[in-house]
Amino acid sequence: MTIARVALPVPLRRLFDYRVPDGHPPRPGVRVRVPFGRRSLIGVVFELAETSAIAADKLKTAQLLDAEPAIPDSALSLLRFAAAYYHHPPGEVAHAALPEALRAGRPVEPAGLESFMLTRSGRDAEAQLPDRARSQKRLWERLRAAESVVAEELDADFPGWRPVMARLNARGWVRRTEHQPRFPAAAEVASAPALNPDQRRAAERVVQAFGARGRFLLYGITGSGKTEVYLHAIAECLARGRQALVLVPEIALTPQIVARFRARLSLPVAVFHSGLSARERHRAWSAARSGDAGVLIGTRSAVFVPLARPGLIVVDEEHDPSFKQQEGFRYHARDLAVFRAATEEIPVVLGSATPSSETLANVARGRYTRLELPARAAGASLPRVQLLDLRRLPAADGIARPLLDALAARLERGEQSLIFLNRRGYSPVLLCSDCLWQARCPRCDARLTFHLQAARLRCHHCGAESARPEQCPNCGGGKLADVGAGTERLETALRHRFPSARVLRIDRDTARAPGALEHRLGIAAQGGADILIGTQLLAKGHDLPNVTLVGVVNADQGLYSVDYRAVEHLVQQIIQVSGRAGRADKPGEVMIQTLAPDNPYLADLVAHDYDAFARRLLAERRAAGYPPFAHFALLRAESARERAGLDFLRQARSLGRALAQSRGIGVSLFDPVPAPMERRAGRYRAQLLASAERRNELHELLTAWLGRLDDEPLGRTVRWSVDVDPLEMY
Ligand code: ADP
Ligand code: ZN
Ligand code: ZN
Repeated sequence: MTIARVALPVPLRRLFDYRVPDGHPPRPGVRVRVPFGRRSLIGVVFELAETSAIAADKLKTAQLLDAEPAIPDSALSLLRFAAAYYHHPPGEVAHAALPEALRAGRPVEPAGLESFMLTRSGRDAEAQLPDRARSQKRLWERLRAAESVVAEELDADFPGWRPVMARLNARGWVRRTEHQPRFPAAAEVASAPALNPDQRRAAERVVQAFGARGRFLLYGITGSGKTEVYLHAIAECLARGRQALVLVPEIALTPQIVARFRARLSLPVAVFHSGLSARERHRAWSAARSGDAGVLIGTRSAVFVPLARPGLIVVDEEHDPSFKQQEGFRYHARDLAVFRAATEEIPVVLGSATPSSETLANVARGRYTRLELPARAAGASLPRVQLLDLRRLPAADGIARPLLDALAARLERGEQSLIFLNRRGYSPVLLCSDCLWQARCPRCDARLTFHLQAARLRCHHCGAESARPEQCPNCGGGKLADVGAGTERLETALRHRFPSARVLRIDRDTARAPGALEHRLGIAAQGGADILIGTQLLAKGHDLPNVTLVGVVNADQGLYSVDYRAVEHLVQQIIQVSGRAGRADKPGEVMIQTLAPDNPYLADLVAHDYDAFARRLLAERRAAGYPPFAHFALLRAESARERAGLDFLRQARSLGRALAQSRGIGVSLFDPVPAPMERRAGRYRAQLLASAERRNELHELLTAWLGRLDDEPLGRTVRWSVDVDPLEMY
């Protein structure tokens, strides 16, 4: 008897056994539909077996959905590895790796693109359209205005179009066609600049590694020409008949990268990210899997997309925290990309101006080869960086005099300025000046942020909203004061101070509507604003060649965070945002406001010495026994009941300690503690840190330990999860 061991989308860390036809057993990677309790689920065959722990007469039968594996072997190994490494239910891992259409059981090949056009008689039909038939008229006009119209466009903006189309069709006025679209490629490849010697050396090292393993850090400041090196290596990869996978942090922020790749590469470039429709994602996935697309550019989840002929993986901005999924299946796409490249026996290039501590440690250990681009390709110089000591300089509306003066000078010269503040809203604290009451979220251990335009108090952690009270709800009298500044307050203040300046704010509040972010970034890049104010949304993404001043309003947020990673992320963000500036012939200037101008990390920033910063950071991490010199896993538990999460974690710790001791595994389990923000959305959260010097020991313990916790009755009373290599410690 053949048994298929199936990964099903249920939150259990195991596979499920089903009977499959003996004569033609499926290969692993085939999708099946199976009965599961009262439901019918779609899963992926992970393994085949001869026997099962389940009695033969109890085994149910799986219905095969694919003749050939939907997920080819190498992609399947990646899923197995990811499930094991992150100790996550394999069915949820497989689910995350498949486009929606495949999860729903549809064929691997996407349906063709459906489009409609008017026939000749349809073109002359205007007079025959009854006046009452308004929607027919509207659809007819839509068709007349274009060569042809794609069904998906109509789905988006012409609700209920199908019956209307059917009526036009019944009279012979429209023709329907279906075809498989190709992803665009350059008809004529745009010419590439001749690589400078550093770029050439870097590109050659990567090309020499083709067909074998090779792990590279491409380390070069913004504008040093990293993308040119990728393009060169990718073109070479395509010329050898292989495909390339390119991972980027966020495509919405960098639409130019796709255009640049398409202009320069002769084979189709497919794109894969969450902003696309399910059909578009299905098409991109399928084109990569079949080999029709030469290049797949995508965000985090693109790391799972199968390639018919893999040749190269590039991870751009490898330090970016958005490569780590922060909920559910908490994987790190960069780390999986490195694993994938090894199993596919192809090179991987991690590119960054500010490499992560992990990657730098891997370079130091000789595991990665460091390729460096030390200078800006187009010859622009580095911006001058200056600290503004907020202890001495009075700051009106959160901005100190020298920064205001510098802003005024830019306005006079017609240059752009960028003000960076990672805090949206008007003010983060609403305070009663009499009794010191503060507006707090009723469901979280957090203050409410006042949003001026919406005139609401909002919780940035759970989304709770309320009206701003007229008077202090505590003492009834008292004047309510807005303390501290967010981007909205800066915007208000700067508009007031520079009435003739065009001020543009870019944060999650102004970029909520679909397309709004791209629109605003476009305005910014084209010089349609004088002062840009924004959060990290503005720090990544577009080049802003006309920006010659960058102001960092509050560097201290990151310097004194409870999160040991905050400094690393802050410095990376500041360098990233500064890199947007002064790329052309105009030198840039960066001003960083701080209450701690003596902080050595800031000194490294002023000196443009990311290497010195990284050495300092790594020395501190080593001394503290933190990653990358230790390996962490965080067990989180939450419950609506106050002590429940902590109680569970205490029990988990005793269990884990006993296991570690009896098996001689070197893992420290720390005391369970409430999360830094204990209550969030009405739930009490607690966490337990596991730390090991050796990665395999951590995993050995986790495997045994989580298996036991899965059976622990107390575990069913709370919601708990494990985060391997956590990026955020709260
Ligand atoms: P990065 O990816 O490191 O930010 P890019 O590859 O985007 O850098 O290069 C920055 C700018 O310099 C781009 O406008 C690019 O066209 C230009 N550039 C890169 N390499 C060269 C080169 N070798 N010669 C001339 N211009 C170059
Ligand atoms: Zn009061
Ligand atoms: Zn809240």
